[in-house]
Amino acid sequence: MDYFPLFLDLHDQPCLLVGGGEVALRKAHLLLAAGARLTVVAPALCDALAAQRDQGALIHLPRAWQAGDIHGMRLVIAATDDAAVNAEVHARCEAAGILVNVVDDPARCRFVTPAIVDRSPLMIAISSGGNAPVLARLIRARIEAWLPHGYGTLARLAGRLRQRVQARFGNDDRARRRFWEQALDGPAAERALAGDEAGAEAELEATLASGDADALARGAVYLVGAGPGNPDLLTFRALRLMQRADVVLYDNLVSPAIVDLVRRDAERLYVGKKASNHALPQEDINKLLVRLAREGKTVLRLKGGDPFIFGRGGEEIEELAAAGIEFQVVPGITSAAGASCYAGIPLTHRDHAQSVTFVTGHRRGEEIELDWPRLTSPSETIVVYMGVAQAPRICAQLIAHGRAPDTPAAIVEKATLPDQRTLVGTLETLPGLLATSQVKPPALIIIGNVVRLADKLGWRPS
Ligand code: SAH
Repeated sequence: MDYFPLFLDLHDQPCLLVGGGEVALRKAHLLLAAGARLTVVAPALCDALAAQRDQGALIHLPRAWQAGDIHGMRLVIAATDDAAVNAEVHARCEAAGILVNVVDDPARCRFVTPAIVDRSPLMIAISSGGNAPVLARLIRARIEAWLPHGYGTLARLAGRLRQRVQARFGNDDRARRRFWEQALDGPAAERALAGDEAGAEAELEATLASGDADALARGAVYLVGAGPGNPDLLTFRALRLMQRADVVLYDNLVSPAIVDLVRRDAERLYVGKKASNHALPQEDINKLLVRLAREGKTVLRLKGGDPFIFGRGGEEIEELAAAGIEFQVVPGITSAAGASCYAGIPLTHRDHAQSVTFVTGHRRGEEIELDWPRLTSPSETIVVYMGVAQAPRICAQLIAHGRAPDTPAAIVEKATLPDQRTLVGTLETLPGLLATSQVKPPALIIIGNVVRLADKLGWRPS
């Protein structure tokens, strides 16, 4: 081990920073965040440090460094561009037994400052011992992406409960550990991570009062939007819940590459839906969600795109709410947004479209009926979900209600996936285009002047 890792309590401790430039500024931020009583010695300060001084956050000694400055300091950082000064600061501190760091000079560091992931009070520090700072930063970026931001909240909550948990379970280590495992990794924790700190706390308090940690292990349903199909477009939260699930219910809009990312030993239930061929009727899906959650399982309901856009997500959670089952809803990138960005068709644009309407081409009765007169403004973009089968009628109706026949229209097939295809025509030509090009689901139709931009703004081969 090249360095001994430790976390230092610097609250109200005298610390010295030698140097007043940009490098010093970064170190000042850290020291101030840790509550240090900071003195900066430098003939001049950069603007940001001067602003800190003006706010009274630090003491500035506006002169060259002197040996006596280190007197009484806990910790000293030298960040000047004068190697001789840095070397002398180092030597004096070493002689006096004061912790010292010369920035970017590992040989003159009694301590190093790690790359950090800050979820205070939870803190992760990464160091390559000065060998590869860039590597440490890369690892930090990975942990940043992986570790939910709410973990600080959770740690604080645990801190508040600690003494009461201790009092409740006394010497029963097993019961105490069981309580914490359930509290920090169960639905109550998920509530805190989703921002409901008060709700999570109340729940943990109630469990403490009853002394039954297993009460925390009850089931919950997470209705999660998986985006338009490309795994890169999942949210952090979606991915994390996917890796926690006991059982996952998914349908055919969720691509295999995404289903692959679900926790390996989770049970996978395909409840696929195609327009005319429901693998499982909606009512049965709703009931199944309730049953699985009642068995105490963490149930993931994965939906293509966003669960609340033509996803019947509302119906599914209505049933859960009625049954008193805990649930959360995680937004996903809806396929209109995915198709728009990946095809280079902005849905709104100052010159071409002031509004956008999402409609469904799925019909309940015999014929698709939309509010046609509302859709005829030339400055309106229309995105049609589930619209391929009804496209000829949709185009004809729009023209009949006054939208120009040469209004540009595009079909984006398998948006965001490697085999995405974009076909561009007009309201008049789109039905023919569909007939000749064998469009396969899923596909979206985008109608409006913005479609013209695809030529210029498209950035993927189509
Ligand atoms: N909740 C989903 C939509 C479900 S309706 C969302 O927010 O995207 C299903 C329709 O979504 C499909 O018929 C198709 O029109 C559209 N769709 C979903 N994924 C798509 C994709 N990758 N490319 C193009 N269209 C897609």
